[in-house]
Amino acid sequence: MKVSIDKEACIGCGVCVSIAPDVFEMDDDGKAKVIKEEGFDESTVQSAIDQCPTQAIKSE
Ligand code: SF4
Repeated sequence: MKVSIDKEACIGCGVCVSIAPDVFEMDDDGKAKVIKEEGFDESTVQSAIDQCPTQAIKSE
């Protein structure tokens, strides 16, 4: 699994950072960014994907 953030869709709520702080971080623009693109716990990241209110976290 690889993840990325759709910056247009992200509203900067911080949910993903709360769930997976080793994978997501708030960027200077107030939106989330991915700080670990691979090798993370996929079930935790899937939880962040599921709970993002705007479906801004994309996975492939
Ligand atoms: Fe952005 Fe979604 Fe993360 Fe909230 S959970 S900061 S909307 S990517």
